Amino acid sequence: PTEYVSTPIHESGKIVGAVVIFKDITERQLIERMRDEFIAVVSHELRTPLTSIRAALGLLAQEKIDLQPEKRQRMVEIAFSNTNRLVRLVNDILDVERIKLGKVTLDKKPCNLANIMAQAADEMRAMADNHGIQLLVDPLTTQIWADPDRIIQTLTNLLSNAIKFSPNGSTVEMRAQQVDSKSVSRVAQGLNVTGTDALQAGIDASGSVILLQVTDRGQGIPENKLETVFARFEQLDASDNGHKGGTGLGLAICRSIAQEHDGEIWAQSQVGCGSTFFLTLPEYAEAGPEDGS
Ligand code: ADP
Repeated sequence: PTEYVSTPIHESGKIVGAVVIFKDITERQLIERMRDEFIAVVSHELRTPLTSIRAALGLLAQEKIDLQPEKRQRMVEIAFSNTNRLVRLVNDILDVERIKLGKVTLDKKPCNLANIMAQAADEMRAMADNHGIQLLVDPLTTQIWADPDRIIQTLTNLLSNAIKFSPNGSTVEMRAQQVDSKSVSRVAQGLNVTGTDALQAGIDASGSVILLQVTDRGQGIPENKLETVFARFEQLDASDNGHKGGTGLGLAICRSIAQEHDGEIWAQSQVGCGSTFFLTLPEYAEAGPEDGS
């Protein structure tokens, strides 16, 4: 509508000039907003792997703690794999055009879900240790049709939130199961989640479905916020930002990654008892849904 604000233009060239300036301001504001969002995205995306690297190096640097050689080696591996992840992320994030368009290019291929879950858990283990959280993983050996880096990114985001919003000494669990469309639909309806129609549509299109769950025993999310937490920049308690870190972008990114995989993501929670985040992904079927061969 901004282009039509100038309806009362007559013949005057001066007024036409004013229209151009108005458009310039609008574009500048748009660019400024995009730049702000871009900075927010960059800071969030860099924070998670950096936190893992810092935690791993922090443990290695403490001479007083006598780390066993295997644990020491594990910390080095965590720092190394997260550094690689950072390099990949920086490359991705610097592709401003894709960010501007809100599009992420996926490199989908058949991949082993158990490996993906193990990698995501490994990346978060140092953070869990630091928070006194026990991280339990029940992996499922199956093939999914996905971009492994993006699924690891989604799972580490969910795990990082679960750890962040849970008390010391509690557990965070990640598990996966193969389900048929009917049972997922029943699960979804039983849990009274939103977006069941979209979920059903995704499942019907892809056949077998993998249901991943990340469960914590943390502070929980009020029912009327279960959907809004997936919106960009949305945080239940903005004061969390200071001491817990985060920008409110993580779940929005998780949701677009899930959608790009024809999957769904939603949450169920009981305030004071904990939350479960659910993610559905298509199981890899022979030629792959996008293979076309
Ligand atoms: P960030 O964690 O960077 O703030 P997210 O988009 O990942 O952003 O999460 C948005 C908000 O949802 C969080 O700030 C928090 O208020 C809430 N939230 C997310 N995960 C959990 C969880 N497991 N338990 C409680 N609250 C959560």
